[in-house]
Amino acid sequence: MITPVLPTYSRADLAFERGEGSYLIAENGQRYLDFGSGIAVNALGHAHPHLVAAVTEQAQKLWHTSNLYRIPGQQRLAERLVAATFADTVFFTNSGAEALECAIKMTRKFQSHNGHPEKFRIITFEGAFHGRTLATIAAGGQAKYLEGFGPKVDGFDQVAFGDLAALKAAISPETAGILIEPIQGEGGVRPVPGEFLRALRALCDEHGLLLILDEVQTGVGRTGKLFAHEWAGVTPDIMAIAKGIGGGFPMGACLATERAAAGMVAGTHGSTFGGNPLAMAVGNAVLDVVLAPGFLERVREASLRFKQQLAMLKDEHPGVIEEVRGEGLLLGLKLRVPNTEFAAALRERHLLAVGAGDNVVRILPPLTVSDAELSEGIAAIGAAAASFEAKKDAAA
Ligand SMILES: *Cc1c(COP(=O)(O)O)cnc(C)c1O
Repeated sequence: MITPVLPTYSRADLAFERGEGSYLIAENGQRYLDFGSGIAVNALGHAHPHLVAAVTEQAQKLWHTSNLYRIPGQQRLAERLVAATFADTVFFTNSGAEALECAIKMTRKFQSHNGHPEKFRIITFEGAFHGRTLATIAAGGQAKYLEGFGPKVDGFDQVAFGDLAALKAAISPETAGILIEPIQGEGGVRPVPGEFLRALRALCDEHGLLLILDEVQTGVGRTGKLFAHEWAGVTPDIMAIAKGIGGGFPMGACLATERAAAGMVAGTHGSTFGGNPLAMAVGNAVLDVVLAPGFLERVREASLRFKQQLAMLKDEHPGVIEEVRGEGLLLGLKLRVPNTEFAAALRERHLLAVGAGDNVVRILPPLTVSDAELSEGIAAIGAAAASFEAKKDAAA
């Protein structure tokens, strides 16, 4: 018999009742160190006092009005995102996939607005993840997400990860833009070299294409910069964000330059819930913390030490950990044992992490994680790795 909750997830048999900073507390009172952060969402951990205050204050005033009226919190958050980035304008959504949908529609509209309605195709990369709507599964191009859902939405051409020659060959008179994650998250924490992103920027400029970045997972401080593309020194024309910007409240945004957004006039796009006052109060509160002087510097410093400790664990357990990948607090352990089993071993040691493609376990602590909590995490990861070594020795 089907469960009342549509069974599209295979869930761990664990439910949480509350959270405190970097910890989740289960119904039975047991504490777990949360290095999954709700899949890179809880950027400021759980029950952050500033976020709790912001949402509580707003909840007592006004939740929703619709986009038929001005929303001052939206104007404020948009102005702050514009001031902090390459962008001139922002559309607010409820999720990452919707932010990507806006980015895809905007890219096509840009070309048609500029007299090229034939240019509607977008080039994407193998291993990409852009969401679960019909267009974003087509963009991601992963067979396991497309299977059984009818014809794949047209307009996406996929090339091998990091293959510049294949990318150049894929550019056709119908190409409108290139879409890429600066670090593939779901794909296994696979960073795109800065050099490659710079080459994409140059190709887009040369061929009149738009560069679209999916920073849904990498954005809002996750890599130690406000946005991951800052590491490469390139700017996109359009960028989708979500996850961290809401700190756990469902929201996303599509940021763009004035040039890229030129065709998106009144009536061309919309969302009933997107950018409602409750979401905007939280988004602004997240930025208060992330943009505060020294915050991102602290993320970079903590990450550097943490990555060194992870590299030491890799040296100690080469039969279990093959590679440490990633930037900032978006880290991945490429494993020589099944990642699902390793994640389960971590969970047994009360450390939560998230699986990813390419047999990787993602380590995504809250950006507010303390040094002591990072050390606690290292101890759990080391103990889990040692348990796999012991199993291997027993089998040999
Ligand atoms: C999570 C994610 C998405 C999809 O976001 P949803 O909020 O689940 O729709 C898109 N792109 C990337 C890179 C993501 O990590």
